Formats: sequence, C-alpha cells, structure tokens
Amino acid sequence: MRVGVGTDVHPVEAGRPCWVAGLLWTGVDGCAGHSDGDVAAHALCDALLSAAGLGDVGAVFGTGRPEWAGASGVALLGEVRRLVTAEGWVVANAAVQVIGNRPKIGTRRAEAQDVLSAAVGGPVSVSGTTTDGLGLTGRGEGIAAVATALLLPA
Ligand code: MG
Repeated sequence: MRVGVGTDVHPVEAGRPCWVAGLLWTGVDGCAGHSDGDVAAHALCDALLSAAGLGDVGAVFGTGRPEWAGASGVALLGEVRRLVTAEGWVVANAAVQVIGNRPKIGTRRAEAQDVLSAAVGGPVSVSGTTTDGLGLTGRGEGIAAVATALLLPA
C-alpha cells in the first residue's frame, strides 16, 4: 500500500465560474488560474501522484505538456488515473477536504463524491470546513483543499 498527500490553493476572482470538486457552483465566485481552478480536483491529483511516486501536478502537466493547459480538474484526474494505473496501482480510496467559506460542500456532497469517484476509479470522500474567518480562506480571498489517497497494487 502507498499513501499520498496533496494540497492546492487558488485565489477567488469575482464573477468567475466556481468549479470545486468537479461541480459548477452557480452564484459562487470561483477561482482564478490557467485551468478551471478546481482546488479539490487538483489536490486529489497531487495526492494520487504522490502515492504512486509520480511527482506532482506541476511536473506531470507542466510546460512540457501544453495540450493540458486549461484542462478541467476532472480531465486532469482522468489522466492521473491513467498514469497511476499504468504504474500498476489501483485506488483503494481517497479523501479531499475543501477549506473555505463558499461553496458549502455539504449541500452537494453526494454529487461531488460521485463525480470524483468516477474520475478516480475508486471511492472518494468529500468534506468541507471553514477557518472561522481567519486567513486567506476566511477572508474569502481564496479556496484551499487538502487530499489524501491510498493505492494498492493492482
Ligand atoms: Mg491548482
């Protein structure tokens, strides 16, 4: 078995579509970035790559693979799944926690878990928390996510 960890943070930009945990959250300001800014999907990518010993999102989807620039978080997860599978691993489970004032993850938890689990090919738990107004997420300046993943030999 191998465990991995991943984190991500993106700045919130007023009026930007909010993609978090593979879902579009209408009425919520989303994250800026070259991609859809889905911090949950990106943290999960890093956790899976970490567990497989394949580096990180920056290394896998960096300047050497421009075809992935602007890809959705779920699309990135699909490619990470392919890479991890090719290395002989299956996803036992993964978990991701979104840290921020909005969106309220609990209102669409099952939907988010379904989307991310399908992308990863194993069960993904999704949770949310706030920082009680403290820090960049508490001030609404950004959304963060932390993830873990457990891989088993295929
Ligand atoms: Mg990111």
